[in-house]
Amino acid sequence: MAIERTFSMIKPDATKRNLTGAITKVFEESGLRVVASKRVWMSKREAEGFYAVHKERPFFGELVESMTAGPTIVQVLEGEGAILKNREIMGATNPAQAAEGTIRKQFALSIGENSVHGSDAPETAAQEIAYWFAETEIVG
Ligand code: ADP
Ligand code: MG
Repeated sequence: MAIERTFSMIKPDATKRNLTGAITKVFEESGLRVVASKRVWMSKREAEGFYAVHKERPFFGELVESMTAGPTIVQVLEGEGAILKNREIMGATNPAQAAEGTIRKQFALSIGENSVHGSDAPETAAQEIAYWFAETEIVG
């Protein structure tokens, strides 16, 4: 499989509980490399733009509210099959359905406050990376 880059976020529910290092450790131990990382407190406009694909969903307001409630760590992860690998490490959206050993099983509080985001396909990975990072901020 090819070396890929994916976009990841450690969400406000997790930064609030001081889990940045614990979650990043899971990425690194699985072979993913953090090639870009910064801490942002996203505005309502940034959160709405990032999650625009979900704007008709009933949980959109709640999602924007939780993503603007505190700092988020935005990251680019690089590695063999990084997009799918990260989705596997994250676990299911609803932590009640997440497999043992996944980040969401270990750390998520609820389906809304589920600690991490990860891109779901090559196209979304490219879009999401470009939404938060300039090329010069990504150092592989
Ligand atoms: P994922 O983050 O696993 O890719 P989705 O793209 O379906 O999941 O949803 C984006 C985010 O919206 C989820 O991570 C979660 O924070 C929130 N969300 C999804 N479904 C619900 C729901 N039923 N109730 C509240 N929040 C939700
Ligand atoms: Mg998604």
